[in-house]
Amino acid sequence: MTEHDIVIIGGGPAGLAAAVAARNAGVTDLLILERDSFLGGILNQCIHNGFGLHTFQEELTGPEYAARYIEMVKKENIPFLLDTMVLDISPEKEITMVNREHGLSVIKARAIILAMGCRERPRGALNIPGYRPAGIYSAGTAQRFINIEGKKVGREVVILGSGDIGLIMARRMTLEGAAVKVVAELMPYSGGLKRNIVQCLDDYNIPLKLSHTVVDIEGKERVRGVTLAKVDENRVPIKGTEEFIRCDTLLLSVGLVPENELSKGAGVRISPVTGGPVVDDRLETCQDGIFACGNVLHVHDLVDYVSEEASLAGTSAASYINAKEKKGSRAADIETGNGVRYTVPQKLDIETRKDQVTVRFRVADVYKDRYISVYYDGTRVLHKKKRVLAPGKMEQVVLNRDSFKKHPALQKIVVCTEVE
Ligand SMILES: Cc1cc2nc3c(=O)[nH]c(=O)nc-3n(C[C@H](O)[C@H](O)[C@H](O)COP(=O)(O)OP(=O)(O)OC[C@H]3O[C@@H](n4cnc5c(N)ncnc54)[C@H](O)[C@@H]3O)c2cc1C
Repeated sequence: MTEHDIVIIGGGPAGLAAAVAARNAGVTDLLILERDSFLGGILNQCIHNGFGLHTFQEELTGPEYAARYIEMVKKENIPFLLDTMVLDISPEKEITMVNREHGLSVIKARAIILAMGCRERPRGALNIPGYRPAGIYSAGTAQRFINIEGKKVGREVVILGSGDIGLIMARRMTLEGAAVKVVAELMPYSGGLKRNIVQCLDDYNIPLKLSHTVVDIEGKERVRGVTLAKVDENRVPIKGTEEFIRCDTLLLSVGLVPENELSKGAGVRISPVTGGPVVDDRLETCQDGIFACGNVLHVHDLVDYVSEEASLAGTSAASYINAKEKKGSRAADIETGNGVRYTVPQKLDIETRKDQVTVRFRVADVYKDRYISVYYDGTRVLHKKKRVLAPGKMEQVVLNRDSFKKHPALQKIVVCTEVE
């Protein structure tokens, strides 16, 4: 069995940035495993612009952003295996994988970085009645058909779900000559970024119906139309509000699920809220030497944050195998308070922490003129006003190392929203 210092599972933006950071931190024996035939992950099908404003201060397309990191990986001679599917990871860090060249094989790693991204929630998770006609796609599948395989997906389209993928696809289908009749959203607010609502819907006069869902799909061979209905505050369809919309295509953009089957097999603890591993401030999971970053850890809005986070996972894994940093014996839990759904990380090593920590989180609802506050064992240490907070946008607070010095016995950090 061959052994490597660090093996990275997934060659998307997270895996690539983690590999480059680990190499820059002095690790020579690295290997990236990618099941697809090319590096770059989901970015390869995201041909719109809007990537890289933070990282490169430029507006790049998805493939251009990915290419920057692929170039770095190639320049650093970091080895990667394509068309290689990882099937299992054991708690002892043995990785079972399969590809055409080597068949089924097992390799061992001293440290592993999980960077498998996420998948889309399918129709089966939604309980929409009706047959299973052609013309129902997840938005990401439609995006792949159009942008990578050059296929036409449909002519008259209804989109369910107004997260970023749904919004981007409303514009993409329009540019491909389809009529996007409506984007329906179950929640009373959009799950996407404001800029995407403006640039993808408003600019093309595509209506957004909030608090609406699809209650029926008509058509046996091919979709012939869908019935939309308004929902009440409990998200239950309101009788009498049904409206039939003729279309041949229904795109579902109803959420992303981090791909953690491998992580679970390795004994990694998963958060029921993020669907990703519970990690400390080094992005290490509860399994010694197994780190996580990118969409497998929690669903991100911007790829720039994925790259930033993945660099931390890469340097942390490098420190782990070089035994440069010892874990402190005191860790504080990071918990959520009023209006905050989750935080990443969920634990913070306050003893050996050398610099600042970025804690990322999402809020539970749309809030206007609220404060984001941080409490150390009940004492408020941070309080900043935000004009708008929305679940579609990832938020962050930066905790300075000096602030821990004043709280040497710190046990619990709470991140919450406050009205005043
Ligand atoms: C439609 C859409 C639009 C977006 N628009 C924007 C935008 O405008 N701006 C922006 O900044 N961000 C945008 N994003 C978000 C950004 O693309 C993601 O945040 C980013 O790609 C996540 O990177 P990742 O490496 O974690 O995951 P991915 O890119 O999904 O990469 C994961 C990789 O792991 C591989 N993998 C998974 N399981 C295995 C296995 N078992 N064995 C081997 N390999 C495996 C996969 O094949 C994949 O290549 C968009 C995303 C989508 C889907």
